[in-house]
Amino acid sequence: MSNVPESTENDTAAAAPSDAAATAPFDLVLRGEQMLTTAGIVAREIGIRDGRVTAIEPLGSGLQGAEIIELEPHQVMIPGLVDTHVHVNEPGRTEWEGFESATKAAAAGGVTTLIDMPLNSIPSTVTVEALNIKRAAAKGKTHIDVGFWGGAVPGNEDDLRGLHDEGVFGFKCFLLHSGVDEFPHLTADEMEADMAELAKFDSLMIVHAEDSRAIDHAPTAEGNQYANFLASRPRGAENVAVAEVIERARWTGARAHILHLSSSDALPMIATARRDGVKITVETCPHYLTLLAEEIPNGATAFKCCPPIREASNRELLWQGLLDGTIDCIVSDHSPSTVDLKDVENGDFGVAWGGVASLQLGLSLIWTEAKRRGIDLPQVMQWMSAKPAELAGLTHKGRIALGYDADFSIFEPDSAQVIDVHQLHHKNPISPYDGRALAGVVQGTWLRGQKIDFTTPLGRMLRRGDV
Ligand SMILES: [Zn+2]
Repeated sequence: MSNVPESTENDTAAAAPSDAAATAPFDLVLRGEQMLTTAGIVAREIGIRDGRVTAIEPLGSGLQGAEIIELEPHQVMIPGLVDTHVHVNEPGRTEWEGFESATKAAAAGGVTTLIDMPLNSIPSTVTVEALNIKRAAAKGKTHIDVGFWGGAVPGNEDDLRGLHDEGVFGFKCFLLHSGVDEFPHLTADEMEADMAELAKFDSLMIVHAEDSRAIDHAPTAEGNQYANFLASRPRGAENVAVAEVIERARWTGARAHILHLSSSDALPMIATARRDGVKITVETCPHYLTLLAEEIPNGATAFKCCPPIREASNRELLWQGLLDGTIDCIVSDHSPSTVDLKDVENGDFGVAWGGVASLQLGLSLIWTEAKRRGIDLPQVMQWMSAKPAELAGLTHKGRIALGYDADFSIFEPDSAQVIDVHQLHHKNPISPYDGRALAGVVQGTWLRGQKIDFTTPLGRMLRRGDV
């Protein structure tokens, strides 16, 4: 089965303007039986020049390159993942992650572009000055391409346009306490005012949708019982907040995006809003699609994230939401902290940092679960590469297609691995996936046609609208 809409499209042709140019050697040529292009998984030769895909020809065409890679029959060339939800935490909380370890982990997991969240770093990315500080901190350290979200907080209305002009991909806001005091949340009215501003320059508001008052009325999370923690972050709090985002997007005409959807209850109203023409998109994350509240041991704070991992029935409906197109994409929400802050010794869900580290594992996690459900690899890549690239307006990323950046991995879908958290590139060795057996291994990752070697940082800093 394949739900990739472009699957019938012809993907071949050389982009070179003349026969002479077409026959000149490429910088790199890949040949294989399984190349994931816009025509699906097909036998192709891919020619790369100056970091871009410049030829896609049937296997056997004999494209010549300065370097030639012949894929083995069990290997698939896939586009690099685009992960639009990553907390790198540098500068300010570099002990939680940082650009070097984050981008190495990303590359090892097949991610070639990440967009960094505006909070948990210090300063938060809520002014142009703070954006410049973050760019300076990232410079020379990134092994993949990195872009930045701005933040919308009370009082920075006048900074939004400047941040947009400086190339942020959109603005994140919270509708309840963000987890860090220096990034305060907006009321729904404040969010609406900022949305009206963003609509003027067609920027995007991305929202952590849990309602502050609903959470205040819920039971407290204290103690080591997962059930208590789950009750402290009820679906109702998400549902109310999602409804606010929908209505405020409707009223202002702004584009809005629901981050890390966990409550499947919200899917019907999102689908209805879309039918009404409200400009709303939705993401969910590997932890909501692969883990189950019923299986989380008490005290296992590695599983704590907000909104929380919910019940099996909820998970099934999230998968359904992906398959019917209500949910657009799957991104990590990689939100690590130090092991200390996860309060592993006491296992108190009220005290532990809320965030799951999974940047390196997203593809294998989702592929393992997708395979079990009979969902094919092109569909997975649509959710994890093409769609997030579209969300961020990255028109030259997210596919192996003519003119696109040559960002890709060689993936072995039938190989297996057992996760050892100490072997990951993540800075802090804590993950709910430690010890899990997963299908799918990334054998190597290339950025703009160059192999990522984990020594020489090849990454660039991306700005909205770059081509
Ligand atoms: Zn997040």
